[in-house]
Amino acid sequence: MATTAENRVASDAKVLQSYLGGKWQAGTGEGTSLINPTTGDIVASASSKGLDLSTALSYSRNVGGRELRKLTYAQRAELLGKIADTLAARRDEWFEIARKNSGNTKADAAIDVDGSIGTLKYFAKIGAKLGDTRMLRDGSPSRLARDPNFQGLHLGVPLDGVAVHINAFNFPAWGLWEKAAVSLLAGVPVFSKPATSTAWLAQEMVSAVLEADILPPGALSVLCGSPNDLLDHLQLGDVVAFTGSADTGEGIRRHPRIRKQNIRVNIEADSLNAALLGPDVQPDSMDFGLFAREVVREMTSKTGQKCTAIRRVLVPDYHEQAAIDALSAQLKMTVVGDPANALVTMGPVVNMAQRKSIGEGIAQLNTRADVAYEPDNFAPLDADTEHGAFVAPTLLRAREKGNDDVIHEVEVFGPVATVVSYRDKHDAFALARRGGGSLAASVFSGDTNFLTEAGAALGTSHGRVLLVDPSIRESHTGHGIVLPSCMHGGPGRAGGGEELGGLHGLWFYHQRVAMQGAGPTLTALNERAADPHE
Ligand code: NAP
Repeated sequence: MATTAENRVASDAKVLQSYLGGKWQAGTGEGTSLINPTTGDIVASASSKGLDLSTALSYSRNVGGRELRKLTYAQRAELLGKIADTLAARRDEWFEIARKNSGNTKADAAIDVDGSIGTLKYFAKIGAKLGDTRMLRDGSPSRLARDPNFQGLHLGVPLDGVAVHINAFNFPAWGLWEKAAVSLLAGVPVFSKPATSTAWLAQEMVSAVLEADILPPGALSVLCGSPNDLLDHLQLGDVVAFTGSADTGEGIRRHPRIRKQNIRVNIEADSLNAALLGPDVQPDSMDFGLFAREVVREMTSKTGQKCTAIRRVLVPDYHEQAAIDALSAQLKMTVVGDPANALVTMGPVVNMAQRKSIGEGIAQLNTRADVAYEPDNFAPLDADTEHGAFVAPTLLRAREKGNDDVIHEVEVFGPVATVVSYRDKHDAFALARRGGGSLAASVFSGDTNFLTEAGAALGTSHGRVLLVDPSIRESHTGHGIVLPSCMHGGPGRAGGGEELGGLHGLWFYHQRVAMQGAGPTLTALNERAADPHE
């Protein structure tokens, strides 16, 4: 295990192994250290050096794929329910790992852990509706020529390869299971590669599911450590679902093997998400306060390390100061420190490299924006400020229009947002779109016409638009929460991907094929398929 002069090794530090080819395997060498971001202690290490990934992928394809595809959608849905139950039974253990390796408060860990369990349960439930079938149907047989007996039908056939899932550090649990749920339901074996810095939780969860002996052999593998030559061994029928930074996503898209074999890739990348305060919302109203609460929740939840977090706060110019005052008042209530202390509402970021990157990002934003709020004396509670990766929540205010590209381009992956004022609704919509394609935008207004217009104007550049009027002010699930029933992803900079969205998500793991033939043949095929839209 690699150590540095500054990092102590925890007495119970783990050496993470990978589950490949149906057995646990350890890489060679010292491996990468995983740290506790609160203390700087090394809590685990992971190495994938020397692992035979070509053979491991073949095993997933040939054993896992074959076994999964023997089952119907309903049978596979039942397995998802069992996975959810297994994980739910050990929830406290996952929360503890999330605190130790990600610096999560209980509320942060709940988003990741409970989000995983909820997503698995959701797909267990809707997957059961597909019944005893093994193919999807899109429409019904229709006549193709003068002869009414010559017909066509679109079907989805589960891919016969392996689903390589590459995940980001900020959701080691949810990232694993939101992808695995859909892939397993489709009948495609999962080969998961968690981000190394927080792989401990993913590895333990996979281990718990394997111990429970729920899945057929080869259906679930996990690679802990760097990806090495993983992508070099992909072939027709395999898919890659990636979540992470735009730069890594671009590298994956350009990988020679992926380009040459046209491997299907879904990219969930970063995003400069906006919250937009409608022109009608008055500073002394309840909705103004709720808007501020939502923005601050997004800035501080998971210490701002959410791909969907609000980075840009768009407010009418005549309410800019009132908005900054309301946001500052809320931010003042944030208690930063050791997540083991129940008073703490915001823990550290994941490691010192991220802390440094946030400092550099704020400096970049500072070239075009002034600090509007930062704590007077930043003193995290119960914290080792030398070794802990703590950062102060910071609100900025854009200085001038027209020379502010950096505010719409630089993703600071931490508790940081910038207030940008707008002149009128057209200006507001144009500013939101300057994110270059985002995962989520939220709009707050009591004016249905304005909300409708905003939905239409932002729809082309966003994957999800949350339109909040007073009737749902308490009931909506929040700007940043991804629901399994709604599509997750966004165009342009956000990666151009689509995940989840209920059974719609299954299509990524199926080959859509136009079947042409005689009426009775197509009727027989049609009867063996299920319509995911019903
Ligand atoms: P990252 O550095 O891009 O890493 C993401 C994953 O890619 C990790 O598992 C990493 O493995 C792996 N990876 C790195 N180089 C690779 C290569 N050449 N080939 C294949 N895999 C490779 O991102 P991160 O720092 O973990 O996550 C933060 C970013 O993710 C933020 O920008 C955030 O906005 C974005 N994010 C997006 C979403 C979304 O749904 N759109 C969700 C969460 C996060 P190692 O860890 O072993 O290097």
